[in-house]
Amino acid sequence: MPTGVTVSSRCILCDGEGRPLFEKHGHAVAECASCGHRFLGGALGGDHVARVYGDDYFEGGGAGYPDYLSEGELIRARGRRYARILARRMAPGRLLDVGAAAGFFLKGFTDQGWQGMGLEPNRRMAEHARRELGLEVEVGVLEGLEAKDSFDLVSMVQVIAHLRDPLEALARAAAATRPGGHWLIETWDRASWTARLLGRRWPEYSPPSVVRWFTPEEMRRLAGRFGLEEVARGRLVKWLKLSHARSLLLHELDGSWWGRLAGKALRLVPGWLTVPYPSEDLFWALFRKL
Ligand SMILES: [Zn+2]
Repeated sequence: MPTGVTVSSRCILCDGEGRPLFEKHGHAVAECASCGHRFLGGALGGDHVARVYGDDYFEGGGAGYPDYLSEGELIRARGRRYARILARRMAPGRLLDVGAAAGFFLKGFTDQGWQGMGLEPNRRMAEHARRELGLEVEVGVLEGLEAKDSFDLVSMVQVIAHLRDPLEALARAAAATRPGGHWLIETWDRASWTARLLGRRWPEYSPPSVVRWFTPEEMRRLAGRFGLEEVARGRLVKWLKLSHARSLLLHELDGSWWGRLAGKALRLVPGWLTVPYPSEDLFWALFRKL
């Protein structure tokens, strides 16, 4: 695993200077003085990935998941939906799924005829993917990828906002993509109505798990630096177990009196119910390598 401090106070889009904008969960959110891109101000330790994506991220609630594995079928169905969207533009091929967790998203793609492999920093999740789903999932991060092969598609679903070193990571992703191949990126939309209305209370400002907040336009510019052009963009409703939605909400409300009240009310509803998460603030974009 790479070590050292890599989240700098410079903007990855224009090299402009990051200025502290506000504090959230004890961390500074900075804004680029030149282009407005927002990112975590200050340094992350070299153990960031291990600390943030340890087993607790998948089971401890907070900004992560109360019980990741229980949402497996929902995530697999999401993989299938994305594969069907892509089927309008390409035949199934070979996929690299970055941040594959326990492999459910990748499994959704293989359900639709794709082949592929995953990359996942959490050892236990990667083992689950191999053992329970029979998938090829390696333990590692994109920043350390030594591509032995060229992929038709690299998927980074809710990954880009977490990367410690996106420039290094995307350079590796570009090297692993064949000419004419694609990237599927899904991330939070800082330009969404939800983000603009909520301001600093926007739940996706959740450092240190999330370290970067993009607009679709910024994402397009970033991919362009690596020779990929945007070919499609959209939104997909996200389905969650109610227990997960409740855990995210309580993390955000963080002990306020109305947070405790909402928590009590939500505890009366069974956690296994599946609810559509209001994800107007989440977008996907498809990029093609020239
Ligand atoms: Zn900038």
